[in-house]
Amino acid sequence: MASKKWGGRESINARAYWKPLLPRPCCRCGRPVVPRPWLHADGWHPDHWPVSREDGGTQTWPAHAECNLSAGGRRGAEITNSARKRRQGMSGV
Ligand SMILES: [Zn+2]
Repeated sequence: MASKKWGGRESINARAYWKPLLPRPCCRCGRPVVPRPWLHADGWHPDHWPVSREDGGTQTWPAHAECNLSAGGRRGAEITNSARKRRQGMSGV
């Protein structure tokens, strides 16, 4: 629960800004970001783009949750798990 982390109000503001503008091409993979209400956080995140937050970027752009998380390199297990789930579920592509 570190206070300096991206998230909280900043993230909520970015989500509120982007939500009515979806779908938009994902800044990571280029495929459209469409809200997926059955997923956590609708399956998308406001990502820092074109400048990463680590490099001082403040602009955001929508990204798929899985793209955003894999780009961040954190929470690798979660990615692996969801990739595995996708492979098993293989529907609707
Ligand atoms: Zn993507």
